[in-house]
Amino acid sequence: MGNKLIAWIRIQELYKHPTIFYPFLLGTAITWSEAMMIDWRVFAISIVITYLLTNEAFISNEYFDYEEGMEMEKFGLRMKLFYDAPLLIVKQAVMIMLYAWLTGWNKRAFLRWAMRLQNLLHAGAGTKQICCFGVNPHVVWEMTGRCNLRCVHCHAFGGEAKYSELTTEEGKALIDQVAALGIRTFVFTGGEPLLRNDLFELIAYARSKRLTVYIATNGTLITREVAKLLSRYKVGAVIGLDGMNPEIHDGIRGVKGAYDAVIRGIENCVAENLYLHLNIVATRRNFDEIERIIDYGSEIGVYSYFIYNFVPIGRGGAIREYALGRENFKALLDLILRKQREVRAIIIPVAAPEYWAYALQRRGLHDRRLIGFLGHFIGGCLADKGMMYIKPNGDVWACPFIPVPMGNVREEGLDKIWRRLSSFKCESASERSQCDDCEYRRVCGGCKARMMIDHSYICPVHVHHP
Ligand code: SF4
Ligand code: SF4
Repeated sequence: MGNKLIAWIRIQELYKHPTIFYPFLLGTAITWSEAMMIDWRVFAISIVITYLLTNEAFISNEYFDYEEGMEMEKFGLRMKLFYDAPLLIVKQAVMIMLYAWLTGWNKRAFLRWAMRLQNLLHAGAGTKQICCFGVNPHVVWEMTGRCNLRCVHCHAFGGEAKYSELTTEEGKALIDQVAALGIRTFVFTGGEPLLRNDLFELIAYARSKRLTVYIATNGTLITREVAKLLSRYKVGAVIGLDGMNPEIHDGIRGVKGAYDAVIRGIENCVAENLYLHLNIVATRRNFDEIERIIDYGSEIGVYSYFIYNFVPIGRGGAIREYALGRENFKALLDLILRKQREVRAIIIPVAAPEYWAYALQRRGLHDRRLIGFLGHFIGGCLADKGMMYIKPNGDVWACPFIPVPMGNVREEGLDKIWRRLSSFKCESASERSQCDDCEYRRVCGGCKARMMIDHSYICPVHVHHP
């Protein structure tokens, strides 16, 4: 802790002297890029951007609107370190370079992605690791159970309002606590969040607290007016799309016409130039659609994808047979790695932390110390380290697929729950000795939800395990 503090103070001192700080950054960049076997000039460009962005003369963006009074008591979690420029940008650049190296991301595509300021600031802002569900830490609030669709894989039983939902005031109090913890990425989800009348009031409130906000939606209710509002508040749109074949999408989403409606919603987002992200739930039923969806997203300029390895929980418990087996799962990871080389967007698998282990293994990396170091940037399973999934009634889960309440925001402070979450142990997971000895454990850890629900062990990295 003492050493970290000294290092931090030194960086702060350096930053006060730009003529030293930027050459220092450049040197660090070259060292890093050599270590990662990346053309150092690519990294240097990132540093030049860093300079432009952090120079006072160029700062007009609200993201750099330094505020007093954000400092709160913490318990070792000091996310503020990565909250603002310059370290936010430096961290983002390092992460993205690492990601590009690991996945073989097409350099031109990567540069196009990174050059867009909105991407660098929006995706992963204020976070310290790439993990399952993208970033660590972040908070997702399932603000309602109501939904206009009936997706067969819905983990939340969307459509059935079975909870006493947090009120608008309780929602604002939740947002206050999230901001006070120094967590920056906040997602409104459901059910269908656009069914809540107070959604935009809460979005405005979250933005006033400087949170980076997304809504996770089925996309069918995004009219042009809704897209304009999302644009006004700089909200990222996370939209579920399970097939380019309308019959397949509608069949999975449980409502005829859902495909046409979601495509209209996506087009409205594109027209308003929103940060657009697609969620795909990968099952045996739509496996052949995944590549088509990625290609469609690439055409319209999507910035990121989550590809969910279907976890049979909630309503999805009734269609267990759709879950991917070992062969399909490996094929999915290969597909993601292949498509990542082609497209501009970032593709992150969910409920598949084995992806990172698999990518490192394919890179020929086995050294435990190096993998341990990379574990600072790639965190694998997020369930015990950085996710708070808030149910409509205020229960807090470690992951949307692990139905174990770790506390309730109506009864106690989020900081207490957060501390409890960080010591969360999944009993079924702890039985998995396969992962205990694995050299990739720091960047993976296995999916605790899958282990809990169906003891699914489909790791392609250590195939000798049962
Ligand atoms: S339990 Fe599985 S789905 Fe949940 S955060 Fe961990 S890897 Fe992701
Ligand atoms: S053995 Fe466990 S920790 Fe290792 S790669 Fe496989 S799932 Fe991940």
